Amino acid sequence: MSEEASKNSALARPLAELPGVGGERAAQLARLKCLTVGDLLLHPPRRYEDRRDIRPIRELSTEEACLARGKIMVLGTNHLRGGRRMFEFVLEDDSGSVRCRWWNCNYMDRLFHRGDDVLVYGKLTGGKRPGLDHPETEIIESDDDPTVHVNRIVPVYPLTEGMPQRWLRRVMFGLLEQHIDEFPEPNYTAAGLPSRRKAIAKLHFPDDLDQAKAARRRLALDEFVELQSTIRRRRVTMQSKAEVLPCAGDSSFVNPFLQQLEFQLTDAQRTVQMEIEGDLNGKHPMRRLLQGDVGSGKTVVAALALLRALESGYNGLLMAPTEILAEQHHRNFTRWLEPLGIRVLLHTGARKDAAEPLFENNTPTIVIGTHALFQTGFALERVGLIVIDEQHKFGVTQRDRLVKKGHYPHLLVMTATPIPRTLGLTLYGDLDSSVIDEMPAGRGEVRTHIRTPERWPKILEFLKTELAAGRQAFVIFPRVDNEDTAAGIKAVNAEAQKLAKAFAPHTVAVLHGRLKPEEKEAVMVGFRANRTQVLLATTVVEVGVDVPNATLMLIENAEQFGLAQLHQLRGRIGRGTHDSHCILLTSGKSAEANDRLTVLAETNDGFKIAEADLQLRGPGELVGHDQSGLPAFKFGDLRRDLDLIELARHIALEIEAGR
Ligand code: ADP
Ligand code: MG
Repeated sequence: MSEEASKNSALARPLAELPGVGGERAAQLARLKCLTVGDLLLHPPRRYEDRRDIRPIRELSTEEACLARGKIMVLGTNHLRGGRRMFEFVLEDDSGSVRCRWWNCNYMDRLFHRGDDVLVYGKLTGGKRPGLDHPETEIIESDDDPTVHVNRIVPVYPLTEGMPQRWLRRVMFGLLEQHIDEFPEPNYTAAGLPSRRKAIAKLHFPDDLDQAKAARRRLALDEFVELQSTIRRRRVTMQSKAEVLPCAGDSSFVNPFLQQLEFQLTDAQRTVQMEIEGDLNGKHPMRRLLQGDVGSGKTVVAALALLRALESGYNGLLMAPTEILAEQHHRNFTRWLEPLGIRVLLHTGARKDAAEPLFENNTPTIVIGTHALFQTGFALERVGLIVIDEQHKFGVTQRDRLVKKGHYPHLLVMTATPIPRTLGLTLYGDLDSSVIDEMPAGRGEVRTHIRTPERWPKILEFLKTELAAGRQAFVIFPRVDNEDTAAGIKAVNAEAQKLAKAFAPHTVAVLHGRLKPEEKEAVMVGFRANRTQVLLATTVVEVGVDVPNATLMLIENAEQFGLAQLHQLRGRIGRGTHDSHCILLTSGKSAEANDRLTVLAETNDGFKIAEADLQLRGPGELVGHDQSGLPAFKFGDLRRDLDLIELARHIALEIEAGR
């Protein structure tokens, strides 16, 4: 039940109790998730039909449904063979007449009478005896009475089995007249949009289609305001309860770290570093989302933040979604930080440094871990900052688990899947946002090519030329093993031998999620050290992997992957100074897949790709349905309502300020 309905007894009334609804219809409505009057009145039409234009009967057509008005001249029920019955009447206006017929309908003869003034809406049947079969009708008692089914723009609702459209429309009409004033009217208005009450009324029975659109937008706005208010409330509650851990630091780690770093920070990295340091030094625990396209250099920014926590006497946690990525971070952080006297631990399914007391002495410590860390009890009180890398692989629920327990470390979540703004404000609306919108200088270009498998000999030749010049390559497969050979989808294990031969004298290795952790690590070590030139892999390398000498990527059955995923995969190359090539192999048979891949070929801009992905697949697919924390909207549409979400955020802030 909506909050609105629970506050108001009339709107909260169960539909089964209403006269004219009853148990059976109420059960059908329950399948539409409508239990109360309030629910039903917020059940939006699927579409509208414009039935306003009254035509002369002579102009009724077999092509399209039209509206006509006339008087019943004759009427009666015919008994057909086989016990069937047909009711019909003849309707006449100045231009002509038409037969209207119904088969197997009882009671029709009691509804209509000679001389009735009737509106009919339907399409003429062809054949010898043209007429309107089962048209929509409505008797006009007086020209002042509003009609429900004709002579207006009528709503067409999603139904369940056994429920007539006309019945539902009639019930809506009646309930609206009775109950519309019981909906609470929010105390905010929005320019160009109707009040909530008017919106609910016009959602069902609009005077024109623009009005229906405005109604829907108003109701979407209300949904977004409710969500944004919840998000704001959660944040304010957190801030009022939380005791902030001061993490300003004294630069005793940051300065030597920056001095020994092999590159200069980009301007964007520096800006974000400052935003983060403002939070660490602020009145409330940091809750910040750091977005930056693949390769933009988020890791070093995370390291700087962690160092501030360590300088301030706390420890740090860095969460990564895969073992491969956790190990890579562990390797980098060890190289960067151990010379400074910092202990860097790794805690994954395979290696559990953190099984020992994590922070037993006063050595400043950073623990890098995967989901395995969730299973460990450790002294969270001594953690000043938690960084979650590749947040989109974790889900909001898991993020919340880490920062609960009445203890409020600073939190930095990072993502390389650029989030369309609508989604960002919805999913991460409780976070402040930083963006690294600049790539480190001196990167080679990444070109993307879409090819069919027939081109394989040429592609192989090209790859081998590049390999001979010292580069390395990824070949990505959608599957580990060939369970469904019929689909023609390639599996890394099935292709490995053939490819090892094809790429010779260059060496290949296989990497997928079913390998043992130490096997995975050995493969990555070999690839990083360039002992292996070609890595045959599944999407285990999707996130985070950083091997700058790898400039080639071949993706088999590219149509099997989502856009965001392909962009992530492609982010594994283009990390060094040499130009890179990404080759998408696909049969080209699916137009939908071709469109998707073309988007990728045409841009390297992660935000554009994320927007396109949102339009193509919808928000649920984009962030994953499980534990994404994405709320279901009845009226709101994350594909197109960015302006409303921004407005809602504004309104929620004003409401909060006014309390
Ligand atoms: P992502 O944002 O995808 O996590 P990484 O943090 O893995 O990116 O950085 C990608 C690569 O760029 C790494 O090899 C990293 O060392 C390097 N890098 C990061 N910042 C800079 C910089 N300012 N100048 C040059 N190289 C950088
Ligand atoms: Mg990364």
